[in-house]
Amino acid sequence: MTSDCLFCRIVAGELPAAIVHETATTLAFRDIAPKAPVHVLVVPKAHHADVAELAKADPALAGDVLAAAAAVADLEGLVGSGFRVIFNTGEHGGQDVFHVHAHVLGGRRLGPMVS
Ligand code: 5GP
Repeated sequence: MTSDCLFCRIVAGELPAAIVHETATTLAFRDIAPKAPVHVLVVPKAHHADVAELAKADPALAGDVLAAAAAVADLEGLVGSGFRVIFNTGEHGGQDVFHVHAHVLGGRRLGPMVS
């Protein structure tokens, strides 16, 4: 837990979030500014800055995040129609919150991936 990290505070229950899925190691909650009809963020409960750091430090936990993202897609009814899982990473990747999170996006045909 990092006290000045927004997503650590959501994991700790200090800030509200619309939680859709939880495991022993992950939490998934709706994005506050959704970019698609379904837009859920999946985070590891432990603090890691980005997906590169997470994969290096704890590959099993990175797998937990991917498994949770797939479970969220299933729960949200996206598996048949398709969906996207994105890890924005670093400045050029457009990352704003430096607690690693997978965006699970779907519910409509998504546009080009890179802008
Ligand atoms: P990034 O740009 O770091 O990949 O994504 C950060 C995401 O966090 C954005 O899509 C943004 O809308 C979302 N976000 C920012 N603040 C909050 C918050 O307080 N609660 C929730 N649920 N989502 C947030």
